[in-house]
Amino acid sequence: MQPDRDTLIRLDKQYVWHPYTPMRRYIDDVDPLVIARAEGARLHDVDGKSYIDANSSWWVATLGHNHPRLVEALRRQAETMCHVSLAGVTHQPAAELGEALVKAAPRGLSRVFYSDNGSTAVEVAIKLAIQYWRNVGRPEKRRFVALEGAFHGETLGATSLCGVEVFRRPFAGAVMECLFVPPPSPEEPRGLAHEKAFKALEEALAQGRSEIAAVVLEPLVQGSTGMRMYDPELLRRARALCDAHEVLLVIDEVFTGYGRTGGMWACASAGVTPDVMCVGKGFTGGMLPMAATLVKETLFEAFLAPENTFYYGHSFCGNPLGAAVALEVLRVFEEEQILAHAAPKAARIKQAFEEMGQLPGVSNARALGMIGALDLRPGASYLGDLGWRAYAEARRLGVYLRPLGDVIYVAPPLTIAEEVLDELLEVVRRSVLFALGQG
Ligand SMILES: *Cc1c(COP(=O)(O)O)cnc(C)c1O
Repeated sequence: MQPDRDTLIRLDKQYVWHPYTPMRRYIDDVDPLVIARAEGARLHDVDGKSYIDANSSWWVATLGHNHPRLVEALRRQAETMCHVSLAGVTHQPAAELGEALVKAAPRGLSRVFYSDNGSTAVEVAIKLAIQYWRNVGRPEKRRFVALEGAFHGETLGATSLCGVEVFRRPFAGAVMECLFVPPPSPEEPRGLAHEKAFKALEEALAQGRSEIAAVVLEPLVQGSTGMRMYDPELLRRARALCDAHEVLLVIDEVFTGYGRTGGMWACASAGVTPDVMCVGKGFTGGMLPMAATLVKETLFEAFLAPENTFYYGHSFCGNPLGAAVALEVLRVFEEEQILAHAAPKAARIKQAFEEMGQLPGVSNARALGMIGALDLRPGASYLGDLGWRAYAEARRLGVYLRPLGDVIYVAPPLTIAEEVLDELLEVVRRSVLFALGQG
């Protein structure tokens, strides 16, 4: 028998430590959603109430929950082989996925290193970059440049690249010292803001070039800090700067990859091929924790000699279950024309957020592909509470709309039905009005 809601909450509050959650407040005050089932763009709780999943469950379920083809691929693989290491061994899912990924990736990325999640995909990139320069006789190049407000994951290396002050603060002094440059400010005119950001990056590279291993960027949108968007031109200029200063360009597509911003990869939409590309989240359509780091052939070649070996690899590297599902994800993108079908939905999101941008109290409404975001106050903060007011109202109206502080955003599954998307956008509008005291 299924235990009831109260029993599950009692167990949860007695035993489970939740991510990114002030736990005292959670235990005392929060009435969590208790989800029993998920399908397409909807979550269903134990009492049968359904919620539209506005953020694809932390940005992973790009193809919706329990896509039948992914479930079938997982079931089939589970019946044959759930796991074997990739140490001196290979298998069909890992080998075929490698080929499919390289074919789907921006041209020039030719080798795939598997790991477990977005953070490890970035950790691999960091270690690769440091060791690459050592292998080619430039061991002094081991510093990194990232953007203020950047988010690249949870491991210590990835945390070093974290430009979100609240997330980084507890580990200050324990993480690598990186160089942070400001992204374009939303408070300034677009052209000027981008020019300033470019100049800052140019200066950092010109000064630190002899010791900089790589520039690491979230392409076109900085997700976790509050869906801050910037122009493709800045990415192209970053590519040119990296080339001019012999610095690697690492692009973290963990959030933006798999069609989130319109094209399959945000960097490719901008016409940029990175030296290293990190993918995760939508990699398995949100079914299993697995990720990959793709590199150019020249990087790979620098590791061929025995003394240059990359001594790195997680227990579940190339896991057959994850690989089989990830391979099916790429097939679904192609055969079901996911990107083409998402385009009209992206247009609806853009229009809805433009309209909400006109509401008094709303600032900086923006949209890109299947992302729409707005600030509920100028200078929106991650620790702000306005988004949580909207969250409560949206929940009442049947939408799971987790905010980023004062920032409200949607990043629904690319496969969301148009009528469900319209329902979602209407609930967002009403929740925004409610949060601003106009509802
Ligand atoms: C979420 C995220 C990560 C970390 O991925 P996990 O799977 O949570 O470890 C890294 N980079 C970006 C851009 C992300 O959005």
